[in-house]
Amino acid sequence: MRFEVTILGSSSATPIYNRNPTSQVLNINERLYLVDCGEGTQQQMLRFDVRASRIDHIFISHLHGDHYLGLVGLLSSLHLNGRKKTLKLFGPPQLLEIIDLQFKYSETVLQYQIDFIPTNPLAAETILVNEDVSVETIPLNHRISCTGFLFREKKRLRKLYKEKLERLAVPVEHFTALKKGADYVDLKGRVYKNDELTSDSDNPRSFAYCSDTMFDERYFEQIKGADMLYHEATFLHAMLDRANDTHHTTALQAAQIANITGAKTTDRPFLGPL
Ligand SMILES: [Zn+2]
Repeated sequence: MRFEVTILGSSSATPIYNRNPTSQVLNINERLYLVDCGEGTQQQMLRFDVRASRIDHIFISHLHGDHYLGLVGLLSSLHLNGRKKTLKLFGPPQLLEIIDLQFKYSETVLQYQIDFIPTNPLAAETILVNEDVSVETIPLNHRISCTGFLFREKKRLRKLYKEKLERLAVPVEHFTALKKGADYVDLKGRVYKNDELTSDSDNPRSFAYCSDTMFDERYFEQIKGADMLYHEATFLHAMLDRANDTHHTTALQAAQIANITGAKTTDRPFLGPL
């Protein structure tokens, strides 16, 4: 199953040449999830061949412009391109007011529905569960309310030994039960144990997205052991005072957090084009 992240932008504050404000897209089993949407995100999607129409879930960490000023433009483009599917949008409660105001004064009535789910910056909460993934908020420590997002892949069904099943002429209608762990009994009454015919699926992967925050041990436990950690770092460690004043992390601290929480690397494809 695909579980891949593509960084569309990782810059902060104002856009600079060749670097874009924060946004990334996750491809989880061919479903696209957009995380943050800084200015220029639509251009980056074109550049990286990400079809915006395939995005059904958008997560916004907080309301500093470098993390969401591209959102209204994207929502507007989806409308102009004839989207009809409901879009799930997760973010701080005030985000809905901002969007409503924008569309109110442009007299735009969106052709599709936005299902808005407000995030709570004070507690880790599971905000989405589907057949592929569950998503939790990560309460962060920034100047304004801010959450990260933790994506956990669901455990997949067991994998079939196809050649063996063909050799034994196991009827296709038994495959689903086998994937779920059942044994197989043939017409002569011979029992085949499940592990003779299937193997366990790969371990589920996880991806932790930690947006703007200062170094704060309170969220470390939650992101412990993530297969991949994306953690913002806005200043070099020589500017630690400035980082603390503005509630950001230094590059050294981000590396320490990866170390402390045991962020892994993975031998399976994970990171998309940079
Ligand atoms: Zn911020």
